[in-house]
Amino acid sequence: MRFGHCYISRVNQKISEAKMKRALGQLKRKLPGRVLTDLGAREQASVDNLRISFVPDAVIQVQKGAEVGVVLKLANEYGIPVTARGAGSSATGSAVPVCQGWVLDLSLLKSIKLNPFSKIVTVEPGVLTEALQTKMARYGLFYPPDPSSKKYSTIGGNIACNAGGMHCVKYGVTRDYVLGLEGYLANGAFVEWGLPLKKFVSGLNLRDLWIGSEGTLGIVTKAHLKLIPLPEKRWMGMFAFKSEQSALACVTRLLKSGLLPSMCEFLDRQSVDCAEQLTGRPIFKGASSVSILIIELDGSSDQLRQQKKSLLEITKKTALDCVEAKTEKASEAILKVRRLCSQAMYSIADTKLNEDVVVPIERQYELIRYTLQLKKEIGLATPTFGHAGDGNLHVHIMYNRSSASERKRAEKGILKLMKFVVSLGGSITGEHGIGLAKVPFMKLQHSKEAIKAMQAVKQALDPKGILNPGKIFHPFEVWKHPTVDKKMPWDH
Ligand SMILES: Cc1cc2nc3c(=O)[nH]c(=O)nc-3n(C[C@H](O)[C@H](O)[C@H](O)COP(=O)(O)OP(=O)(O)OC[C@H]3O[C@@H](n4cnc5c(N)ncnc54)[C@H](O)[C@@H]3O)c2cc1C
Repeated sequence: MRFGHCYISRVNQKISEAKMKRALGQLKRKLPGRVLTDLGAREQASVDNLRISFVPDAVIQVQKGAEVGVVLKLANEYGIPVTARGAGSSATGSAVPVCQGWVLDLSLLKSIKLNPFSKIVTVEPGVLTEALQTKMARYGLFYPPDPSSKKYSTIGGNIACNAGGMHCVKYGVTRDYVLGLEGYLANGAFVEWGLPLKKFVSGLNLRDLWIGSEGTLGIVTKAHLKLIPLPEKRWMGMFAFKSEQSALACVTRLLKSGLLPSMCEFLDRQSVDCAEQLTGRPIFKGASSVSILIIELDGSSDQLRQQKKSLLEITKKTALDCVEAKTEKASEAILKVRRLCSQAMYSIADTKLNEDVVVPIERQYELIRYTLQLKKEIGLATPTFGHAGDGNLHVHIMYNRSSASERKRAEKGILKLMKFVVSLGGSITGEHGIGLAKVPFMKLQHSKEAIKAMQAVKQALDPKGILNPGKIFHPFEVWKHPTVDKKMPWDH
């Protein structure tokens, strides 16, 4: 019998080995050479950045959008779970085939077609985010959504998670750039939501339902994306503050002043301490254990001069020091500090609960104060950094998975954190989505009626529940599941 580990009673129907074999046989005949059943390929597709593994029965590497329709038609007929996969960089387990079945690998669909007149680019879902940005930059055009995983993440995955990134403070998230989508419903029918047009209000807006739905409502095979002119110039500064309070007060002053930075990243002292311990030297000479803001400005030379003057006026009262980046290379060195902090946390413990909560911008310090209180209460480190310009902070709870006591304290801590975030008027997730990791907190954020309405949409678009089952609505507790020790491309 299949799906021994499935968490959903409806999909947990007993599909016999014989039926699975028959479906797979048919699929192989319809799509020769696309269906992988060797253990290596299945294990590769069993895990994402959450590192919890469920090995699927087969991996299907489609090479044409239309093949997605073929796969879904058959899967729907037999009731086989299908989990779409881009790069598998999801932080929440949204790409993990928790009910096994088939993984639909979209990473080979990579075409990019630019209309230079309308400045709309039509891409297939396997295009890598950074590759698209680099290609568009050659035409003086900018596709701003930039998750830190952009070198590896796919546009399909970005759309399915409504990915954000460091430039969101000025330029918005993935949703703000999606003009239209093409793809397939659970039953294999082809649909278009919108066209490569600047305006389109015909019918119900199912495009926006698909964006951020984590592959549970349909599979994207093409996206029409809006581009904007590439900013002429950029400037970046890294500022040191004696405390988180002082750094975040500076963010509030900055945003209140009307100045709109193109990046406004925050690092707390716990994060900075990790990086400094790893490298054995302070990030700012003569001032160790500081809280940091990384601020980028962009525009014409004149605009940059004006903005920089205003920024330095705002920061001069409280910043202890500033490192300026005058070249792209120097900016990259500053951003490396941010990446280093993220990796260096593993010196505290082997596992992190990596949250991406959002609070009203002016209440970010209340959140930081709470993480420090939590640190004392549960006896686990809570290093925090993130997109302070959006109120979107990555709070990490570090624990050793082999310790039952630490696991229990991490679980207690995360639940308290989420309750606090919601009490501040915040969101349990700002860019990673629900996947498996945030399921326990859905009921903190949404009323029973709201969840029922979401489930009704799911039922209408995917009556047999084959698309990415086990996600968003079904009970799952990350901390109870073993992780696999697997090196991912983005691990340093
Ligand atoms: C180091 C690191 C840094 C990160 N930084 C950020 C960040 O700054 N901002 C941010 O938002 N996220 C970030 N993430 C999370 C992750 O990279 C994003 O969620 C990204 O959008 C996932 O893209 P992917 O191609 O890896 O998708 P996958 O992980 O393969 O899939 C993610 C989800 O999308 C679905 N999916 C994939 N393709 C399709 C498709 N064509 N149609 C329908 N559904 C599909 C999958 O089923 C799954 O539910 C980070 C992750 C890592 C590892």
